[in-house]
Amino acid sequence: MKNTTDCIFCEILAGRLDSSQVYRDALCTAFMDIQPVNPGHVLVVPNDHVAFLAELDEETGAHMFRVAQRLAQAIRRSGVKCEGINLFLADGAAAMQEIFHVHLHVIPRYDGDGFGLTFGPEYSQKPSRVKLDAVAQKIRVAFKG
Ligand SMILES: [Zn+2]
Repeated sequence: MKNTTDCIFCEILAGRLDSSQVYRDALCTAFMDIQPVNPGHVLVVPNDHVAFLAELDEETGAHMFRVAQRLAQAIRRSGVKCEGINLFLADGAAAMQEIFHVHLHVIPRYDGDGFGLTFGPEYSQKPSRVKLDAVAQKIRVAFKG
């Protein structure tokens, strides 16, 4: 296992820091977020240290999503207050990533929980089809299928 001592998640994975573990297999581990948005907020992390999504092998990424999907079902069945679920992955500081070891949040949600997204001033002005097509073209060119 490739882990690093200056990463809090690697320290958790190595058992040198406490965590409330929910699930572990050969590729990923799930444990409770210590600063939960709501009770039941779980993080799914790859067992090997990977800082960013682009460095994560696709099989591990797909597996993390599979586990998150199962955790979402478990949270709904668990008795934890849960009317909905958000899956959230912050990739990069600008996207609010704070721990630079990839992690997928599984967040139980309920009406009035106070969590939300804020939008910039441009958000209410929908772009034209021409602009959407131009951006789609840029992404198509860059896409590695
Ligand atoms: Zn790490």
